Amino acid sequence: MKTLAILGSTGSIGTSTLQIVDAYPEKFRVASLTGGKNLPRLALQVQKYRPVRVAVMTADDADALRQILGNCEVEILSGNEGLTACATLDEVDVVVSAIVGAAGLVPTLAAIGAGKDIALANKETLVAGGSLVMQEARRQQVKIHPVDSEHSAIYQSLLGHRKQDVRRLILTASGGPFRELTLEELAEVTPEQALTHPNWEMGPKITIDSATMMNKGLEVIEARWLFDLPEEKIAVHIHPQSIVHSMVEYEDGSVIAQLGVPDMKAPIAYALSYPERLALPLPPLDLCRIGQLNFAEPDVSRFACLELAYRALRLGGTAPAVLNAANEVAVQAFLDGKIPFLAIPEIIRRTVAQHTPKPLDRIDTVLEADRWGRVEAACEVELTLEESA
Ligand code: NAD
Ligand code: MG
Repeated sequence: MKTLAILGSTGSIGTSTLQIVDAYPEKFRVASLTGGKNLPRLALQVQKYRPVRVAVMTADDADALRQILGNCEVEILSGNEGLTACATLDEVDVVVSAIVGAAGLVPTLAAIGAGKDIALANKETLVAGGSLVMQEARRQQVKIHPVDSEHSAIYQSLLGHRKQDVRRLILTASGGPFRELTLEELAEVTPEQALTHPNWEMGPKITIDSATMMNKGLEVIEARWLFDLPEEKIAVHIHPQSIVHSMVEYEDGSVIAQLGVPDMKAPIAYALSYPERLALPLPPLDLCRIGQLNFAEPDVSRFACLELAYRALRLGGTAPAVLNAANEVAVQAFLDGKIPFLAIPEIIRRTVAQHTPKPLDRIDTVLEADRWGRVEAACEVELTLEESA
């Protein structure tokens, strides 16, 4: 029996994780849950899973949740302290890190500090704090099991092989809903169109990241830290069907891939039950029916975010944290209808260009770079608005 803390339990990854808990009640129990703004959903989860502790974002939200739950025995906390208290609870074995954005960094790092194994969906934790997070994980001897499907695929494709034999990692990318659009067409796309992903059902932020291909850029940085390989050894292939979840190429030219239907329950379950494989209620992969698997080079002239992420990784230090912060601000501005789609990479580019990267010596340096990136990117959003007025 493994006891879980699920950070971001009301989101897409959080609810898929709870479906696995439902399917395997003898293997998993839930000790703590955290949610953001969806209090009704969090309240239903508390009533169903009976955690000992939950956390929400603000003290007001905590009061509102107490109102909804009446005299339920759960301890209700708020803010970063609440998240950290949920992530470090004594009885927890595995923390599912499924908050969206850099907000996941502090509680994930606290969980590692408390010696908890991590099922990591929150890629922004590694994008912003990569070297520090991995250092702490090694120091505490905790395991970080990737939930991101590409990294789960690479993890599986590396098993039984020697790291020095790896020539490169090949991350696959669906290319998102706008894979075939010209730059002129990309200039006109709306948030509604961008929120419709062809293969995966996900939260709004990562869905926009998939449309800009920043998601793949963030995943390149995530892979750099998870697998400790330099960015020259990490490549990206467009693969519209999302069946090959990623691959590892070895020195002898052999390529090992992991394939499956696109459903996050598979990598989540593997992260929770490794090395055991759980039977899941998913349709089998029918390659004969799919018929073809296609691959292509990504086009960075149309999807500039991918190149921006590689550049931030080469700059090093706090540059990826600033890239990530600027991306979060730009994506929100696009979702709010303030800026056009193609302003997203432009705002990120300008923000990172004004940053002087510092070495990642401690967590406060990362948090400071994150704050700086948000302020600077918000200024860039305003400039974009003025320019278009
Ligand atoms: P989501 O928007 O559906 O859910 C996010 C969760 O975090 C919700 O519970 C929300 O209430 C909570 N949250 C949001 N902001 C918060 C804040 N400031 N403080 C505390 N809690 C907050 O997102 P998702 O699609 O489930 O993605 C979660 C993470 O997993 C992201 O980092 C994403 O990149 C990663 N991921 C998701 C998928 C997927 O298929 N959805 C696949 C791979 C990786
Ligand atoms: Mg992914």
